[in-house]
Amino acid sequence: MLTVLAGGTGSAKLVRGLTHVVSEDLTVIMNVGDNISLHGLYICPDIDTILYALSGLLDTSRGWGVKDDTFHFLEQASRYGVEDWFRLGDKDLALHIARTKLLKTGLTLTEVTKILGEKMKISHRVLPASDQHIETRIKTPKGELHLQEFWVKLKGEPEVLGVTYQGPEHPQPAPGVVEAIRDARNIVICPANPVTSIAPITYISGIRDALASVRERVVAVSPVLGGRPVSGPAGKLLRSIGVEVSPIGVAELYSGFIGKMIIDESDEVMVDGIGRLGVEALTTDILMEDKKGEQRLAEFVANV
Ligand code: GDP
Repeated sequence: MLTVLAGGTGSAKLVRGLTHVVSEDLTVIMNVGDNISLHGLYICPDIDTILYALSGLLDTSRGWGVKDDTFHFLEQASRYGVEDWFRLGDKDLALHIARTKLLKTGLTLTEVTKILGEKMKISHRVLPASDQHIETRIKTPKGELHLQEFWVKLKGEPEVLGVTYQGPEHPQPAPGVVEAIRDARNIVICPANPVTSIAPITYISGIRDALASVRERVVAVSPVLGGRPVSGPAGKLLRSIGVEVSPIGVAELYSGFIGKMIIDESDEVMVDGIGRLGVEALTTDILMEDKKGEQRLAEFVANV
């Protein structure tokens, strides 16, 4: 079994690639830090992106939502003064309604995600990192914001003063998560936003400790290449927590729980620096620009 830690858009590409190149079962441990309640619905943006990617429903050009979706609901709702900054497609809406109804019956997020995965005919296992609500909060001069407010509503523009993870004092891993790490042949940390996708997962000490105990089998793919993230606000967020925006910076952040890090071949000069952190750096082309690129990187990752 291969276990994968994932966020949304960047992670989906590698996860999809892996499903094409490995024959073994995948368990995908999902970030829950960007979950949000809107319009009375419980929305899990990263879980949804991975469910859509695994079921073939994902709009791959946007990297989120359902392909060929329409936005009639949102257009109509905004006429009544409903906030429309968080884009919810008509087909996408169905998933949020189904999840919210199931959660209201008393099922956990793990149980609900399993049911949704089965209904979407997904054979791989998608596990929320926790059944508890752990929320990534972005500190800005305007106050603390939900990640979606910062990134989607305010387009990532506010200055970032820091990032916190808000939830229970001792957040617990969801059932099956620690076992999926312990029993895996290898554990892959997707190319994902280190601050808003991976850190909310490793913030849960039970998960961080489980990874650390099998550190030599944990391999991360850098989301940073040539001093910049491939996409999204990772650079701004890494700087805000005092981490250098480079594969070395990310390796340092992960060094307590990874044994290997895959970086781009153009960042070869960083291999020794990463090695000094006790992490073995491996180089290849880490850009996934199309399906071929996803499968090429997935092949490399699966055979590390
Ligand atoms: P989010 O939850 O939508 O932000 O998605 P993720 O956290 O899974 O992915 C975002 C991260 O993936 C960003 O930091 C990007 O730099 C990184 N990323 C996106 N595409 C690629 C790619 O093709 N290769 C690599 N190495 N990283 C990528």
